[in-house]
Order: sequence, then structure tokens, then C-alpha cells
Amino acid sequence: MSTSDHAAGREQSTGTAHAVLRATADLPAPWAAICGASVDVVQGRWDGPRGLGSEQPCPECRRLAEG
Ligand SMILES: [Zn+2]
Repeated sequence: MSTSDHAAGREQSTGTAHAVLRATADLPAPWAAICGASVDVVQGRWDGPRGLGSEQPCPECRRLAEG
């Protein structure tokens, strides 16, 4: 599994970016991040500026997506 298999999700209340599986990113809201958090919006790639490149990427999602 690589980071390109994930979309970037954002938890509105905290501003934290989480990774969402590509397979579930196309489904209707709500989405669940791979760390188990619920995300409010899905916006682009996890390895892009809205994901890992954002100010607050979720460390747990980063670990899981890279593993
Ligand atoms: Zn997360």
C-alpha cells in the first residue's frame, strides 16, 4: 500500500488532515479515516498539499498509510 492509495480528509473541528482510503472516498459522507476518526470533507490526495503537505497531518494516519 502506498500513500497514493489514500485521499486527504479533513476534520473540521480540529483542522487535522486524515487519510481516507481511496475505495471509500467516492462514497457519500460521512467518511472514516484509516485511524478511525470521522472526517467532514475529502479533498484531494493524501500525499498532496491537503494531506501530508498540510499544517496538521494526523500522525496516526501518516504511520498507517506508510506502513
Ligand atoms: Zn487520522
